[in-house]
Amino acid sequence: MAPPRGKKRKIGTEEPSSSLDSASESTQASKSRADEILVERSSVWFEDGNVVLIAEGKGFKYIRLLDHNVVLKFAEVSALLRLGSKYQVERIRDEAIRRLRQCFPEKLEDYATARTRSELFSRKIGRDYYCNASISLAFLDCRDTIDLARSHNLDDLLPAAFHAFASAPTVDILEWGTPGGIQDILRVLEGRERLDHAARRNLHAAASLVSTGDCKNPERCRSARVSLVRQLAVHRMARNLCLLDHGMFESEFHIYVCAPCTKLRNDLWEEKRAETWSKLREYFDLPPASAPVADDGQLPAND
Ligand SMILES: [Zn+2]
Repeated sequence: MAPPRGKKRKIGTEEPSSSLDSASESTQASKSRADEILVERSSVWFEDGNVVLIAEGKGFKYIRLLDHNVVLKFAEVSALLRLGSKYQVERIRDEAIRRLRQCFPEKLEDYATARTRSELFSRKIGRDYYCNASISLAFLDCRDTIDLARSHNLDDLLPAAFHAFASAPTVDILEWGTPGGIQDILRVLEGRERLDHAARRNLHAAASLVSTGDCKNPERCRSARVSLVRQLAVHRMARNLCLLDHGMFESEFHIYVCAPCTKLRNDLWEEKRAETWSKLREYFDLPPASAPVADDGQLPAND
């Protein structure tokens, strides 16, 4: 990727307008057309590509994009989204959006990160934050995702992207040169305070159910409840717990209670967790979800 700018390369006979020379079946055709016109390489060029987008006299060559199993870097997905949108190549644009939505989904059950899956929670934060994602992401990429989502009308990415970026180091949040300005920085800082309050409130609510109902071992369960409340009182990063699944009671807090108490506690926690997810827009002061809008500002056709 990113060869020297301005390097000329002979690359087929298409008119220098938008066109996607698709995948392996056309590779042979591309080769046969080579040597016929000179095309300047763009700033995005996959050396191992077998797909070429020719536009404005520049060639954009892709292969890995077409392979769902390959993990791309954020910069690559970002470039594909911009190019796919600019030259109206839906296949490229849609694939970039598919990958972004996999990382920043609309449904909590699709959001697989070290802050939503208790088995991932103790992972080193950074490149390991996401599980099974098709984009290799760091926290700063979450920040750029917010800017990208705004500029491409991908509003549905925002709640998860804000939630993810809220786990970033404070210095990264403060140094954000976002087009959204200081308001976006405040959205993250204030949003994560709200997440902290929500997590504490909901964890206390779940704890309060322990040793009530059909408790099989009141003494042991009461003791476990007290332990949870004590741990929460000194927990510095409760906001990181707000979307974690109920497995954290055992894996992070080492709280073990009887079966009826476990069920009561877990059911309430999952209910509260889903509620927190549904309130991300409110917590991050984002506008209500809107219908998707195409790049040209028009509502998309029915499909
Ligand atoms: Zn119990």
